[in-house]
Amino acid sequence: MRIVVASGKGGTGKTTVATSLAVELASRGERVAYLDFDVEAPNGHIFLPPVVEESVPVEVPIPAIDDEKCTACGKCCEACQFNALACVADRVLVFPEMCHGCGACALACPEDAISEVPRTVGWMDIGYSGAVSFAQGKLSIGEAMAVPVIRALKKRVPVEGFSVLDSPPGTSCPVVETVRGADRVMLVTEPTPFGLNDLKLAVETVRSLGVPAGIVINRSGIGDSGVADYCRREGLRVYASIPDDRSVAEAYARGELPGRVIPEYGRIIGKLADELVRPEAEVGVS
Ligand code: SF4
Ligand code: SF4
Repeated sequence: MRIVVASGKGGTGKTTVATSLAVELASRGERVAYLDFDVEAPNGHIFLPPVVEESVPVEVPIPAIDDEKCTACGKCCEACQFNALACVADRVLVFPEMCHGCGACALACPEDAISEVPRTVGWMDIGYSGAVSFAQGKLSIGEAMAVPVIRALKKRVPVEGFSVLDSPPGTSCPVVETVRGADRVMLVTEPTPFGLNDLKLAVETVRSLGVPAGIVINRSGIGDSGVADYCRREGLRVYASIPDDRSVAEAYARGELPGRVIPEYGRIIGKLADELVRPEAEVGVS
């Protein structure tokens, strides 16, 4: 089962929930993988310190122009939808950071003057943390395109057992790419007007992808009832409500999984895991 833990905004406690869930499922003897798709700022490794067995570069093919063959016809620049090429006088300029590696320019070139060379845009670390298989994507500093790293990491999602995918926050392309093909999504939110605003966007995004979603309300007790009312109106199942508790924040600040030091937190994550191992129809995901 591929479970994505996502949130409409950062700072909701998504990674704490995702890593806690992975550890809880592993403690039950399940085969579990945790994969950090928050490739711009992966931090699941703080809760699950990994033994990294393999670091693999993620590469995007970018064009290399053979000036001897190029006739400056301009067809490659017309074909590029991402403004990664500029045809200036009798030369073609390549802007590697803009290139999506789609290959359209090479196909459009009538002179066979374009070959492809790899460009590293990020890395994947593969290993394990205790009984949990571990993988994380890391976008290189200064890179704009997270999706190639996410696509590469998705190829590392095991086909058996439980996989907990820690999504980037928000609703942009990297989130869509992470959620696509998942079995369930858990949207972690907080009961504030800001949380509600971003939750609505996240629910729309997930629904547009046709993936069943449930909600985890973190820090319940702060804010107002807007999130709970919205979930009721929309028929969204609330998988768990995690009370606001200073000791959870203190555990987080120490880089400790709260469930290891706060029994109540561990009990809630246990119930969350119970929900996930039940069949979809029984859980009644929306
Ligand atoms: S590979 Fe695609 S994105 Fe990159 S320069 Fe060629 S057409 Fe543009
Ligand atoms: S399409 Fe080929 S020949 Fe034409 S400008 Fe581009 S690289 Fe040069």
